[in-house]
Amino acid sequence: MIHSRAYVDQVQVFCINGGGGLDPDTYVVPASFDAALHAAGAGPCAVDALGAGAADAAFVAVRPPGHHAERSCAMGFCLFNNVAVTAAYLRSRGERVAIVDWDVHHGNGTQKTFYRDPDVLYVSVHEFPFYPGTGWFDERGDGPGAGMTVNVPLPGGTSADSYLAAFGRIVMPVVAQFEPDWMLISNGYDAHRLDPIGGMLLESWDFGALARWAADQVPTGRVITMLEGGYDLGALTESSMATVEGLAGVVRETSWPTEVTGSAQRITDLAVRAQAAYWELH
Ligand SMILES: [Zn+2]
Repeated sequence: MIHSRAYVDQVQVFCINGGGGLDPDTYVVPASFDAALHAAGAGPCAVDALGAGAADAAFVAVRPPGHHAERSCAMGFCLFNNVAVTAAYLRSRGERVAIVDWDVHHGNGTQKTFYRDPDVLYVSVHEFPFYPGTGWFDERGDGPGAGMTVNVPLPGGTSADSYLAAFGRIVMPVVAQFEPDWMLISNGYDAHRLDPIGGMLLESWDFGALARWAADQVPTGRVITMLEGGYDLGALTESSMATVEGLAGVVRETSWPTEVTGSAQRITDLAVRAQAAYWELH
């Protein structure tokens, strides 16, 4: 639904022939194609399971991740765009989908897939400047999708309180005003304080608070988190537990930080202003 047939075939042939580097970051072996197909199919499986009443929420633990993959291009460890496949699947059923991407990297592939789509909201909070270089606040969607892409590019070293405050100032009101039928999370843990790649300072329990917020935005059984990045195994374990607790609603509601400080403050103000034509933000 979102990749070209030629690209899918190309990845398959490349893997079967022994693998190697699809790009400087994206290394594959013969088994990678099947792994990537399962990762891409896991989201639609979760949609079906939730639709059948099997659970109240889905925590989808898959690798390879997906949010950098574009229509005909592997990038940044990603072969197929798992969250975008899931959104396209829901979209084909007439559902209104919000994708919130809290991986520390910008999800260029997801943004591009739905850049002109008025029924899929893409919101990303990420480190900037950083890989892959996209996700500045002036990237806001185009044509009928104008305003349906929202980027919050925070500087490296942003504190957990400032991160959550910026999230509260932009992501929360945008999602509330969009009124999604389904919430999909590009659930990366590389914004964790211990992550060796990312420069953000979130703690494991912060992901629990974010997950609880996500689950509260839609009726029961309409929230799916899709694993993206996260490269400190201890942080990945703890943050995953916190996320599941958040989805299950067993995380205590605490007061949400409201003040963005330091160098994140100016960029948050600019991002708010950039979205003023589309969303009511303060
Ligand atoms: Zn990442």
